[in-house]
Amino acid sequence: MANVTSKSGISTKAIHAGQHPDPTTGAVMTPIYQTSTYAQESLGNHKGFEYARTHNATRAALEGNLAGLEGAKYGLSFGSGLAATNALIQTLSTGDHVVCGQNTYGGTYRLFDKVWKRHGLDFTFVDATSVDAIAAACKPNTKMIFVETPTNPLMQLTDIAAVVKVAKPKGIRVVVDNTFMTPYFQRPLELGADVAFHSVTKYLNGHSDMIGGALLTSDDALHEQLRFLQNAAGAVPGPMDCFLCLRGTKTLAVRMQRHDENARELAAILEKHKAVTRVFYPGLASHPQHELAKRQASGFGGMISFIPGDGSLEAGRKVFNRFQLFTRAESLGGVESLVCHPASMTHASVPREHRLSMGFEDGLLRLSVGIEDVADLRADLEQALGGL
Ligand SMILES: *Cc1c(COP(=O)(O)O)cnc(C)c1O
Repeated sequence: MANVTSKSGISTKAIHAGQHPDPTTGAVMTPIYQTSTYAQESLGNHKGFEYARTHNATRAALEGNLAGLEGAKYGLSFGSGLAATNALIQTLSTGDHVVCGQNTYGGTYRLFDKVWKRHGLDFTFVDATSVDAIAAACKPNTKMIFVETPTNPLMQLTDIAAVVKVAKPKGIRVVVDNTFMTPYFQRPLELGADVAFHSVTKYLNGHSDMIGGALLTSDDALHEQLRFLQNAAGAVPGPMDCFLCLRGTKTLAVRMQRHDENARELAAILEKHKAVTRVFYPGLASHPQHELAKRQASGFGGMISFIPGDGSLEAGRKVFNRFQLFTRAESLGGVESLVCHPASMTHASVPREHRLSMGFEDGLLRLSVGIEDVADLRADLEQALGGL
């Protein structure tokens, strides 16, 4: 592609990678190829497109775009983040072992523990802030290490390069869930990981109007296997959703800058606030892994968790219910600010004892800081906390 190379800056890649004017009309924006099938001129003579589960040009543009952003040779997109994780796990066989962070996204845990365990895969969930714990969990049949950094909602980090050092000599693949940071701030493949995973539902789309997932890799054999599974198992995204995500990634750079800027300001306010006991944000010097956050990523992102008052459910409820500009909702990464009560929403299936042992109190609240005027967000946060 002439308009963008691997050396182009990430804002340029966000707008141009994987995309070129439509060959039929010159349309600058990638058309939504809303078709299931393609006409063949004569027997065996077609344009390389036969059936849309296998080939869709809107999807291909998105895949090229996401691969460009992560610095990957290949990209594949799926109907949801979990559909992408599912395809990844389908590369393994009965008896294979996976090491996974214990504070990983609840749906990832559920897929591994409730579905794939039943099919004869073996999982060990470890404290992934400790590379030693990851190394100790590896067995002769370990084929994959799956880490999410930072985690949700405790914002714990895993040292990606250090995990790669443990995994490479053993021939174990490293997969990083890069949903929270996005390639704008963190590029796992450059740190040696084999696969960058995304729930593109979040920041990559950025507008809370579709569900999707992606796997980005530069490993030829793995990509072939994943591409086969994308078609064979069929969890492909629709062209309209691909279009929406492409529209979203164009502004990834400016959105992430603003999410980060706004979140840094709100995290600093929360840290000083007398109604707040604890703040979890990698950008704060008080975060136990702040140095790693600075080394591994070029920003801290828009996600903040905090413990209001005494950490009780009552304290959490009071503050949660008072928000006016922040919308009370699950999910994250859109332009609008959201507030979530993980214990009753996203993490309701995590046993209370397990939550408490990680410092995840009943009243903990999580903010997905949007790109509104920070003065308005600040005023809403302060009035919500004023209720305590
Ligand atoms: C949302 C999310 C997922 C799952 O993605 P879906 O698109 O909801 O299937 C996985 N990992 C993280 C970190 C997420 O936030």
